[in-house]
Amino acid sequence: MNKSDIIIVGGGVMGSSTAYSLRKLGFNGSITVFEKDPTYEYSSTARSAGGFRQLYSTAVNITLSRYSLGIYKTFAEDMALDGEKAEIDFKQPGYLFLATERMMPAYEKQLALQQSLGVPSELLSQSELKGLIPELETGDLAGGLFCKEDGYLDPYSVMQGYRRQAQRLGVVYETAEVVQLLSESGRMTGVQLADGSVHAAPVVVNCAGAWGAALSEQLGVPLPVVPLKRQMYVFDTAKKLEKMLPLTIDPTGVYFRHEMEKVVAGFSDDVKPGIDFSWKRSAFEDLWPTLAHRVPNFEQLKLETGWAGLYDHNTADQNAIIGEHPLRGGYYVAIGFSGHGMQQAPGVGLGLAELIYKGKYETLDLSPLRVSRFADNDLVLEDAIV
Ligand SMILES: Cc1cc2nc3c(=O)[nH]c(=O)nc-3n(C[C@H](O)[C@H](O)[C@H](O)COP(=O)(O)OP(=O)(O)OC[C@H]3O[C@@H](n4cnc5c(N)ncnc54)[C@H](O)[C@@H]3O)c2cc1C
Repeated sequence: MNKSDIIIVGGGVMGSSTAYSLRKLGFNGSITVFEKDPTYEYSSTARSAGGFRQLYSTAVNITLSRYSLGIYKTFAEDMALDGEKAEIDFKQPGYLFLATERMMPAYEKQLALQQSLGVPSELLSQSELKGLIPELETGDLAGGLFCKEDGYLDPYSVMQGYRRQAQRLGVVYETAEVVQLLSESGRMTGVQLADGSVHAAPVVVNCAGAWGAALSEQLGVPLPVVPLKRQMYVFDTAKKLEKMLPLTIDPTGVYFRHEMEKVVAGFSDDVKPGIDFSWKRSAFEDLWPTLAHRVPNFEQLKLETGWAGLYDHNTADQNAIIGEHPLRGGYYVAIGFSGHGMQQAPGVGLGLAELIYKGKYETLDLSPLRVSRFADNDLVLEDAIV
């Protein structure tokens, strides 16, 4: 029978960051990552918008992003392989939540917490918003919450950076689908693969993203996570904007940013949970009035392309679920990231690796995101969900 010390199910950004971090901490046992699709065609990482922000309302989310910022700033050099930089196209034009009068008190509260944790966020007035985006319609806005350190990056390259380094350090990536997580007497024993074979391990880490909750349910320990389709749109405008856009969130939740000369936009609409990758061009009609109102240059645009991807959406509090499951010894999860996994991946990988290898968090305290918080009725109530 095949055996490993640690099995990781899913080789996306979470699985790869965790595998890499285990090695960096000095764990030299065997690690096998099972990834069903090495092209990553449908993985959330490959379909992400890549937004990066420290603008959250809870300490755990702010500190996770702040840690990741330090990693992403030097990722290209630190993760270079054979003299070739691991470029991730990290751009920092800032991240901006636009606010109506009614929203300002909540942003003032967030600002105080963010600044106390070292984030250089600032509240902008109407006229300062105009300074940032001269074309912005500000008549119905009171201001905005802005962080100049934030922005966006190329998610696929981040994932490949972690994967290549993990492989260099001896982590084995196998192309296979895990169909069942296995346990006996309350402890993990391994996984069963689609070809019927069993691979044994005392530690199994569920990093299977939008597919992960189904595996956990089969194991008998359901998690409050569902796959939710999210659509992205890329358009071009005849009249170009004067300046590079920060990643901007309209009060309606519609968001947009530049991608070279073009603009990428998205919106978390109400959809039924399920695995669905169909991209509906017509759904853009729901966003377009908001976009055209907020930036008059967007009134005349050409919708060029787009895509659909899956959030692994946590239905209980929309935040990540990280740690060992209290009902199965050796069963670790990193799931439920909804729309903010890319900005958390470096800290999550390190935290999970510390928990598995050292038995406790050392660098960042991720215990608020523990599995048992649902049973404890101790949810992580984050106001800044996109
Ligand atoms: C449209 C969209 C926009 C987003 N925008 C942002 C953003 O702006 N900022 C941000 O921070 N985050 C964003 N996210 C979220 C972010 O991309 C995810 O949180 C993150 O990529 C999750 O990584 P993961 O490794 O957990 O999941 P994935 O990347 O999905 O990786 C899981 C892997 O597991 C594999 N797998 C699944 N089941 C099995 C199995 N049974 N056996 C073997 N392999 C299996 C899959 O093939 C997959 O490769 C966005 C996501 C989407 C879809």
